[in-house]
Amino acid sequence: MERYAKQIILKEVGEEGQRKLLVSKVAIIGCGALGSMMANNLARAGIGKIKVIDRDYVELDNLQRQFLYDEEDAKQSLPKAIACYNKLRKINSEIEIEPVIADVNPSNIESLIKGYDLVLDATDNMETRFLINDACHKNRIPWIYSAVIATEGMTLNILPGKACLRCFIQSMPSSLPTCETEGILNTTVAIVASIATTEAMKILLGKDVREEALYVDAWRNEFLTIKVKKRKNCPTCNGNYEFLNKKTGSQFIALCGRNAYQIMPMKKLSIEDVYEKVKKIAKILAYKDYMLRFSIENYEFIVFPDGRIIIKGVKDEKIAKSLYSRYIG
Ligand SMILES: [Zn+2]
Repeated sequence: MERYAKQIILKEVGEEGQRKLLVSKVAIIGCGALGSMMANNLARAGIGKIKVIDRDYVELDNLQRQFLYDEEDAKQSLPKAIACYNKLRKINSEIEIEPVIADVNPSNIESLIKGYDLVLDATDNMETRFLINDACHKNRIPWIYSAVIATEGMTLNILPGKACLRCFIQSMPSSLPTCETEGILNTTVAIVASIATTEAMKILLGKDVREEALYVDAWRNEFLTIKVKKRKNCPTCNGNYEFLNKKTGSQFIALCGRNAYQIMPMKKLSIEDVYEKVKKIAKILAYKDYMLRFSIENYEFIVFPDGRIIIKGVKDEKIAKSLYSRYIG
């Protein structure tokens, strides 16, 4: 308890509050800019169990805004969940931290969040946010929506029985600006992640939290609140979980602005299976229990424990498909 002395002095927390935090469980979905800052705040505050879920690996241009990572993580293309785990372990060795390298999808989300007191959205896309919205509504788990783009950010607390994300944003926007085209100011990330983690602590402590959405523009020093009302015909609030009930098949997804494709095969191959297939023809760059990295021709392949494969250096889906079927599928 001594390490939390300055937090226990706060009348908002106190010794009883700290004990509550120490037995609380939070799942963070996405461990990029927002997620790594949230994980950092929560680990230092003594949240008893933190699960960090991420599908990606650290790259040099992440370091501008992804506060936990360093050049060595980028050099090793370390999965973000693992890099995050390594840092949190050093920050607080007394709490439980579970790294999960996975793409959150309709088939795994419920098992990933089951038993957790709170879910934090630190993803970068609306599809996954609507999926979190469905899964948390169904399992009655509070969650916090957070998003950042350019100098602006938004966050909203979503509690069981209250307005949900689809009450606020009705459907998938047809196109959204992305960080690849708009950029991100790192102080916007710090502000939004810090406000969201403050609200997270309040939810875990059973305190009242803000019911409006909060909009921030860090560059202009603007803070606005937006009223959010429960919508009568909201599909999620009526138990129609469109995003959770979606079927997922074999998928080739272009990773935004990265010259890379992610492949989610129907038939899951283990890291060992892929290693056996390619060891004679590929240049093996790293072979760990959390990742296999190799190069063939001028392409780099990264294989994760959940069976996903990322091929770097590919701009075209046809080429991604042919590389996959030639060497792996
Ligand atoms: Zn709703």
